[in-house]
Amino acid sequence: MTEPVLTIVVPCYNEEEVLPETMSALQRLLKELMDEALISQQSKLLFVDDGSKDGTWELIYKEGLQNSMVKGLKLSRNVGHQNALLAGLISAKDLSDCVVSIDADLQDDISVIREFILKYYEGCDIVYGVRKSRETDSFFKRSTAQGFYKMMKRLGVDLVYNHADFRLMSKRALNELQRFKEVNLFLRGIVPLIGFKTDIVYYDRLERKAGETKYPLKKMLAFAFDGITSFSVSPIRFVLLIGFISFLMSLMFGSYFLTLKFLGHTQTGWTSLITSIWLIGGLQLIAIGLIGEYIGKIYKETKQRPKYIVDIDTFNLGVPRRLLDPVEEDLGRISESNQ
Ligand code: UDP
Ligand code: MG
Repeated sequence: MTEPVLTIVVPCYNEEEVLPETMSALQRLLKELMDEALISQQSKLLFVDDGSKDGTWELIYKEGLQNSMVKGLKLSRNVGHQNALLAGLISAKDLSDCVVSIDADLQDDISVIREFILKYYEGCDIVYGVRKSRETDSFFKRSTAQGFYKMMKRLGVDLVYNHADFRLMSKRALNELQRFKEVNLFLRGIVPLIGFKTDIVYYDRLERKAGETKYPLKKMLAFAFDGITSFSVSPIRFVLLIGFISFLMSLMFGSYFLTLKFLGHTQTGWTSLITSIWLIGGLQLIAIGLIGEYIGKIYKETKQRPKYIVDIDTFNLGVPRRLLDPVEEDLGRISESNQ
């Protein structure tokens, strides 16, 4: 069997501080794997620039000119981690046999990629990297993340516990992934739905090498909420249940106050009245809000807008003419006219 072509996809958003280190570490790894004849010489690194505002794209682009192993995909604007990752996976798919996705900050142990490949040789189509513990995360991040996984489980969403987007997928699995057309993208929920032979590799998660997290609390909450509402209708069922309970309670209260009335104690309270108005009003608002959330999702899905737009793709298309230095462009023209 010829060695598989591996592409490592790295989404980057304002990562100029950590990127040089990431690039050299991943290049070293790729070289090693090639020397061990585990992967093909055609294997590549694909850095996806998710509309960064700093020098991230320049770094990727310049490195790509010097080193044919490094390729870049520039998105037209910031579309968020999940969409950027998908853009990279889909672009890498056609020219690769398997694709590994990893964050730019080197928090995930890259030496585990070797084990991913070995599992691929054993016939796995998807290999999940799962961290053993979360000691390097802050207490806050750890507890919120764990709470999130537990809640998702309760809501009946099948997630791989403590697995972020560090995984290997085969071409076959990626082809299936592409058939999931949803606009509200939550890859961690979708990938387990693909099936095929899968396995898990455990590793220790390290600290971010440089730069800051691109997931502040607000984004994290939005991500969690998105994950829940994209994959589960349990919240709506829950609202229905509460509706039933409050309906039953109002029947009970109603009959209680009616009996009081017939017994002559007519002084039923203003308090109970006003509290129930507020209670019911509040419940209705929550329910409407929740339903609105799902309708909003449906609205987005029906529009079928593209999830990302590619500006430059040096992986599949090479370096666009207009970006070459004038000198190189002249050389290009000369060689063309010679042919
Ligand atoms: N990222 C991205 N687009 C965004 C936000 C983040 O491509 O809008 C990338 C980021 O560059 C990094 C990965 O997603 O490679 C994960 O982000 P980060 O490490 O900041 O998240 P954390 O590990 O703190 O959850
Ligand atoms: Mg990180």
